[in-house]
Amino acid sequence: MEKYTVKDFRKQFPNDDVCLDWLKDYLYPDGIHCNKCEKVTNHYRVQGRKSYSCQFCGNHVHPTADTIYHKSSTPLTDWFYAIFLMASTRCGISAKQLERELGVTYKTAWRMFQKIREMLDESPRLSGSVEVDETYVGGRKKGSKTPGRGAVNKTIVVGAVEREGSVKAEIVPDARRATLIPFVQENVTVDSIIHTDEWHAYATLKLHGYEHQKSSHAKKQWVVGESHTNTIEGFWSLMKGGLRGVYRGRVERNYLQNYINEYSFRYNRRNDITPMFISFIQQVRKDK
Ligand SMILES: [Zn+2]
Repeated sequence: MEKYTVKDFRKQFPNDDVCLDWLKDYLYPDGIHCNKCEKVTNHYRVQGRKSYSCQFCGNHVHPTADTIYHKSSTPLTDWFYAIFLMASTRCGISAKQLERELGVTYKTAWRMFQKIREMLDESPRLSGSVEVDETYVGGRKKGSKTPGRGAVNKTIVVGAVEREGSVKAEIVPDARRATLIPFVQENVTVDSIIHTDEWHAYATLKLHGYEHQKSSHAKKQWVVGESHTNTIEGFWSLMKGGLRGVYRGRVERNYLQNYINEYSFRYNRRNDITPMFISFIQQVRKDK
C-alpha cells in the first residue's frame, strides 16, 4: 500500500474549497448534467456557498446533497481529516481521540465516525475456498452454540471469508440453520467450497450446491490439511482486538454492525496499492 501521510493529506486537501472540488469531480466524473438544460454543461463555483451553477441557466448543484456531509456545520476539511484518521490506523480510532484532534464536542465526533462507518458498508460476492463461522461479541466464549441460551447481552456475528480474499460479516439474531444458510447463499457463490466447524446448522450446505468441508475444533484437527477455519478466526481476533483496544468493548449493539463494516472494509483492502484513505473517501455516495 502506498504511504499517505498527514503531510500528503494537508497538501491534497488544504481547505474546504479543494474538498468540495474533489467531491464534485468524484461524484460527477463526466461533468454535471443540468436538469434544466437537459445536457452536461459547465458549472461554476458559487462564491460563499457549497454549490456550483450552470453556465447557461444558473441552476445550482450541491455536491454534498444526500451524502454524509449533507447539512453538516462541520467543515469538509474536518470531515476529510476524520476519515484520514480512521483510515490511517489498523485497529481504528475512538471518537474521544477525534474530539481531541478536531476540537469538536464528543457528540459531534461520535456522530461523524458513525456516518463514516455507515458508508463503508459493502457486499463482496465471495467464491472459491470460503470459511464460514460465527462468533459471539460481548464476552461469550465459543463452544456452546445452543441458540437462545446464554444469548442475553451477547451478539452473534456470522462471517464468511475467502482465503487470501475478502470478508463479509453480519450480526444475526441466532445461529440456527434458517439464519446461517441464507447468509451463505446471499454472500457466497454456489460453486464454492465452504469450510466450517462441526456446527450442525451447516449440515445442509451440500443440498444448496456447495461443497462442504468440516473441521473439528474439539479434536484440534483444523490445522490438518485444507479443512480449517483459521482465516475467519484471524478476522474475528482482529475485530475483537480492535473493539477491545479502541472502544474497550463498550460498543452498543445498535452500532456494532457499523464497526464490523469498518474492520471488514479495512481487511478487504489490506493488500491494495491505493492508500486506505483514498479508498475510504471514495465510498461517498448520494444516498445518505
Ligand atoms: Zn442549465
